[in-house]
Amino acid sequence: MKIVIKIGTSTLAHATGKLNIKRTSELCKTVSDLKNAGNEIILVSSGAIGMGVGKLALKEKPQDIPTKQAAAAVGQCELMYTYDRLFTEYDHTVAQILLTGSDFTAEDRHENFNNTLKRLLELGVLPIINENDTIATEEIKVGDNDTLSALVAVSVKADLLIILSDVDGLYSADPRKDPSATLVEKVYGVDEALLSTAGGEGSALGTGGMITKLRAAQICTKAGCDLVIANGNAPERLYEIVDGKFGGYTRFFAADKND
Ligand code: GLU
Repeated sequence: MKIVIKIGTSTLAHATGKLNIKRTSELCKTVSDLKNAGNEIILVSSGAIGMGVGKLALKEKPQDIPTKQAAAAVGQCELMYTYDRLFTEYDHTVAQILLTGSDFTAEDRHENFNNTLKRLLELGVLPIINENDTIATEEIKVGDNDTLSALVAVSVKADLLIILSDVDGLYSADPRKDPSATLVEKVYGVDEALLSTAGGEGSALGTGGMITKLRAAQICTKAGCDLVIANGNAPERLYEIVDGKFGGYTRFFAADKND
């Protein structure tokens, strides 16, 4: 199976902003094992700005663009150094790819990206993708890694995109406000009605960046790729997700797989 896994900063770091060593180690171990089992895996990882803030010992996340971009430049090194170290333990070679929105719209650049990625997978390498935050301006940036991971998944014709987040998945209502809210395990089709429930401020599903995840689900499912939203707090859950076992997460089925 060809699988794209999106890792959010909340999975990699503690609330203090420091690296969550246990979680990140478990994640790299599980991904390595899934690769050893024959799956082709591509990571889309956030965390550059967060790690840069830690490394530069800034008191808080910067608000101005030059400091944010400087933090991303420092943090991206730290992020890749961490992945390189952990994946090397399991004999896997990582590669860094930094993209912006225009790498998907400019045909020649998109083709270069696809060709390089294809070659990296043939070489058995684990590509790790992030937005090129240091140069991305408002006009050209994708903006969030949920969307970036969906664009990557569609480009490489992945079978599955797994978004690891700090929520278990999509709920029938906002679980923080409604104790009767239940986790929706299977979703067939992301329509405007579902998107609008997640979009409005204070609405039932408008929590934890659900709107960008639902838009990612729409991009993927229309293009024939399933999407899973799962909590990144237990990386071993990836085994069950890849095996198609249900429980504790949400799976959006690709349009051609509706049954
Ligand atoms: N590219 C950003 C970073 O590495 C994260 C963007 C996102 O998480 O959506 O810090």
